[in-house]
Amino acid sequence: MAPNLSHAERHIHALALAKECVALGARLRTVGYMTGLPHGQLTHLFFTDCTVAQRGRAPDSPDWYHSANLLNRTEASIFASIYRRIRELGFGPAEALVAGYRHYRTVCCHQPRIHFDRAFDLASHLDGLWTVLTPSFSLVTCPVCSSQYMTAIGAAPATNHECPFCKLLMRYRRDPRIQTCFPAHTVADVTALQLSAMTLAKFMFRD
Ligand SMILES: [Zn+2]
Repeated sequence: MAPNLSHAERHIHALALAKECVALGARLRTVGYMTGLPHGQLTHLFFTDCTVAQRGRAPDSPDWYHSANLLNRTEASIFASIYRRIRELGFGPAEALVAGYRHYRTVCCHQPRIHFDRAFDLASHLDGLWTVLTPSFSLVTCPVCSSQYMTAIGAAPATNHECPFCKLLMRYRRDPRIQTCFPAHTVADVTALQLSAMTLAKFMFRD
């Protein structure tokens, strides 16, 4: 957000951001962190139905990601890669999260596995923001397919043994679940986000 905005403009911007987050399925806690608006005001404006406002425990992504199945890790990495690219264009984290999550949903041809609160938590742990002080994930580039994927911060894999995109492509022909989630005609679109992985996908799915 531009630093020279007036208080009223900042408040209007925060309300508009809150509305977008709520529309994407964010819980009250998430909207509070992202907008800085007080919980009472958010509850009054957006969460009048208390049963909708609170839905179970907040995500804890470091443990979740490292034990998640391949499809979840792949989609988490797709979201994280989009989010990072938007950040690198100079957008703030809240704007990058909302825009990145919207874009992530458009590349999912099924029900997205990453819900908005999860995306918020992934971005928090990637950049050391909002709920955490220091990052616990980094994005690394696979030396084989050149896709970006999330790994524990400080790790520098020299092989593709952790890369979810390489694993996904290797399992594709024998795993109906992967074929359902990433139909062959959409793989090019998904991997287009991952740039040079598209070349590998085209090679694998050309027949
Ligand atoms: Zn790879």
